[in-house]
Amino acid sequence: METPVSELLENNIWLALNQVKDPEIPVLSIVEMGMIAGVKIHEHKTEVIITPTFVGCPALHVIQQNVKDELHKQGIDAEVKIDLSIKWTTERMTAEAREKLEKFGLAPPPHISDDELTEEQLNRVRCPFCHSTDTTLRSAFGSTLCRAIRFCFNCKQGFEQFKPVT
Ligand SMILES: [Zn+2]
Repeated sequence: METPVSELLENNIWLALNQVKDPEIPVLSIVEMGMIAGVKIHEHKTEVIITPTFVGCPALHVIQQNVKDELHKQGIDAEVKIDLSIKWTTERMTAEAREKLEKFGLAPPPHISDDELTEEQLNRVRCPFCHSTDTTLRSAFGSTLCRAIRFCFNCKQGFEQFKPVT
């Protein structure tokens, strides 16, 4: 059975999107970050909808352009839209994204099961170097707004954490 054209097109779009990295975290693609809110294939046009990780993210237009460029390389002409109404949370990040973050030396955000972020959930942060959970918050702001600085009592090193966004 032949694969329908739109399915092929959609596969190619996802392949292209996987090539676009998060400017702040070069080991992660925007797909792994959960930034793609939708791919829509209409009869006369194709749309890719992006949800920004942080409202007012200065890299947003860079990402939008990079998406267009990657799609162009695949010969795909698509409209790349930013939808601010779709709420991005760290729960949109894939399991692979969390693993890659930790290998990158950035503690992944804790899983938030409820809407409420408890003190206990916030503090369940594992050191990316030695994997000890004996860590504490040192500064709510790291090198970027989305990061916090923590300290590990076990290996006596400071590390950055990707803050949870609910
Ligand atoms: Zn440690």
